[in-house]
Amino acid sequence: MNKVVILVVEDDAAIRNLIMTTLKAHEYHYLTANNGETAMLEASSHNPDIILLDLGLPDMDGVEVIKRIRTWSNMPIIVISARNEDTDKIEALDAGADDYLTKPFSVEELLARLRVTQRRLAYMQSSVPMEREFINGNLRVDYNAGCAFLGEEEIHLTPIEYKLLCLLSQNVGKVLTHTYIIQKIWGSNGENDIASLRVFMATLRKKIEAEPDSPQYIQTHIGVGYRMVRVKE
Ligand code: CA
Repeated sequence: MNKVVILVVEDDAAIRNLIMTTLKAHEYHYLTANNGETAMLEASSHNPDIILLDLGLPDMDGVEVIKRIRTWSNMPIIVISARNEDTDKIEALDAGADDYLTKPFSVEELLARLRVTQRRLAYMQSSVPMEREFINGNLRVDYNAGCAFLGEEEIHLTPIEYKLLCLLSQNVGKVLTHTYIIQKIWGSNGENDIASLRVFMATLRKKIEAEPDSPQYIQTHIGVGYRMVRVKE
């Protein structure tokens, strides 16, 4: 039995039914809401493990729901957006959403996103606040010593590359937007833009990925940002 409880927030009955049927078939527990007010009420009274949140709700913007929930909870939120809502999706990620699904999505995509999020949830719940080390496959980041390794080999990183690697590893499983990364690395007044972020990302990948053209550790989300994924052991 899957003990994870998912709050499904979707006003479109057909999509809600598809999600509910899928969750039921995979033994997830779920709650539903068809507008933002109900979603916040359900979230605060039942404290679900994961929220699946449609961004286009009848009573309020899904981004507003995220902002309000983030004032009291870090529960993972996966947003569901239509293809033409790219800016909403980025706004949602910047407001604190963890991941996104774009309509129309398949049952397999939904389940894959839930698995990634569950792993992230388990990691969030198990990790002590001051994690000293990050291990993912062959990659190891020693936060205390300020260095990173691939197997036994130390990776020689520039300060920016190291900051980038720390940021991605500390948010493993979560999609980080370009804006978020740029602010964290260079500060809000930085002169740096997406083009320079891409350059640093490319040099970082050359150092940590066996095949930089088909990266194993860092995924590119075109037009959105990057995510570090857990590699299979
Ligand atoms: Ca909708």
